[in-house]
Amino acid sequence: MAIPWQGAPAPDPRVLVLDEQLAAELGLDPAWLRSPDGVQLLLGRSVPAGAAPVAQAYAGHQFGGFSPRLGDGRALLLGELVDAHGRLRDLHLKGSGRTPFARGGDGLAAVGPMLREHLVSRAVHAMGIPTTRSLAVVATGRTVQRETPLPGAVLARVAASHLRVGSFQYARATGDLDLLRRLADHAISRHHPGAARAPQPYLALFEAVLAAQASLVARWMLVGFVHGVMNTDNTTISGETIDYGPCAFLDAYDPSTVYSSIDHGGRYAYGNQPAVAQWNLARLAEALLPLLHEDEDEAVRLATEALGTFPERYRGAWAEGVRAKLGLAARPDREDPSAPGGPAAVTALAEELLELLAVHRADFTSSFRALAAAARGDAAPVHRLLPDPGAVDAWLARWRALEPDAAGMDRVNPVYVPRNHLVEEALTAATEGDTAPFLRMLEVVSAPFDERPGLERYAAPAPEDFGAYRTFCGT
Ligand code: AMP
Ligand code: MG
Repeated sequence: MAIPWQGAPAPDPRVLVLDEQLAAELGLDPAWLRSPDGVQLLLGRSVPAGAAPVAQAYAGHQFGGFSPRLGDGRALLLGELVDAHGRLRDLHLKGSGRTPFARGGDGLAAVGPMLREHLVSRAVHAMGIPTTRSLAVVATGRTVQRETPLPGAVLARVAASHLRVGSFQYARATGDLDLLRRLADHAISRHHPGAARAPQPYLALFEAVLAAQASLVARWMLVGFVHGVMNTDNTTISGETIDYGPCAFLDAYDPSTVYSSIDHGGRYAYGNQPAVAQWNLARLAEALLPLLHEDEDEAVRLATEALGTFPERYRGAWAEGVRAKLGLAARPDREDPSAPGGPAAVTALAEELLELLAVHRADFTSSFRALAAAARGDAAPVHRLLPDPGAVDAWLARWRALEPDAAGMDRVNPVYVPRNHLVEEALTAATEGDTAPFLRMLEVVSAPFDERPGLERYAAPAPEDFGAYRTFCGT
């Protein structure tokens, strides 16, 4: 399932950004990574003795259509590292040149999209959401031809692994049951070791992936993250967010929001993400069927039953998260299911709030920080975002009666997310050679919950004239 390969040469490599903390976590010396030898590693040109970089094969459903052979078309798995916590981590490159899986592609990546992945994955990580990380972005000095000529770059990505739903689809499609079993055993030992002790380890593996994905997508929804291209090859077995292409954070709250320029049907709209995750898990279940039971009808029954638990798991994770967002996290006196502050009542209250946000197209991120101000006694920011005093004050009165914890809200509601208009501004400057705005913004989103003076512009909603934002895949 992998082909030995190496990165393409870069005429004039230059490190644009390096996550020094992540480097340290991986036991890599940041100063060395910036040296000529370190840069050759970050380009996949020279690797430590014993390492054998490969391009991996995988399949996947893209926008619902199955491609039996995708694979790392412009990526390279350099190898595995043991991090400071003793965990195995993949070090992987993106934009490192054509591989045998490149199909028509040039194997390259441009500075803008790679810096975008670095920035957005940093923000997602800083919010405590499981994600692949970006160790570095190296400009190659080579021009990449897109709609216009652009400066090229290579991103070094760190992941718990690169096992995807599409990896299982690939193994299943080969018809080699032994390969499928070895892949499942590997996934169990690497990511879900508890499954090995279950009476039906492969069913337990499926359930563990389902639980990880239900929790992940709930976390995305709670911060307004739109992944944008939830194909099965972009759905991990580890439960980490992967593949920051057309992703973006919501500005105005609207569940039908789509940013990706190619998502004409809105398949990967913000509000569809839980349903899409369940659909992707159904594809994983199909791939695993021969391992679930020798009788196919029984295998289907087991898979269907497990898949049916997704909505409940997702709702549970979301409900717990939204309670924290409203400052009403679980407390002994809130446990009574029929209490006004009980779980069901708070979920209903949250849903009413979301309806208000949708009606007013209120800025999603700002709204929750404004609510914390209201919990402290200043309702003016909420009134500015939701200019409908009747409905809003009635809602606020019911909510305040439950004694929301404003400090607790500020610990889970980010004040700084990578706002689309600022991301564009920073990436445009970086593409033109000035990385200063990008580096400043990176610092801001690295501490998303700590409001700091002087950073008001990073917390402000998009200007009215920003319009419908569009993002692009595979660039
Ligand atoms: P993605 O949208 O990044 O998940 O990519 C989907 C598939 O297209 C993967 O197999 C990628 O390796 C491949 N791909 C994307 N861009 C390129 C490119 N410029 N050259 C070669 N392959 C690419
Ligand atoms: Mg991908």
